[in-house]
Amino acid sequence: MARKARINTEKCKGCYYCLDICPRKAIKKAGKSNEKGYDCVEVVSQMCNGCGACYIVCPDCCIDIIDDQ
Ligand code: SF4
Ligand code: SF4
Repeated sequence: MARKARINTEKCKGCYYCLDICPRKAIKKAGKSNEKGYDCVEVVSQMCNGCGACYIVCPDCCIDIIDDQ
């Protein structure tokens, strides 16, 4: 079963570490702020291979790697 990154945007602080490290360019700026006012990111699911690099790098534990539905 394929694995994909899922981002909890309400915890995101917009540091973009995940965006910079993703080898598949599967994370992009969402173009909107979360409730705390941070510019959050989103996963382009079709591009993600579930490698987990973003999960490891996120300092705020916003990212899970989940089974694709
Ligand atoms: S799991 Fe890997 S491919 Fe998917 S968004 Fe994170 S760094 Fe990119
Ligand atoms: S590394 Fe975490 S806090 Fe930083 S932009 Fe990505 S999801 Fe948001």
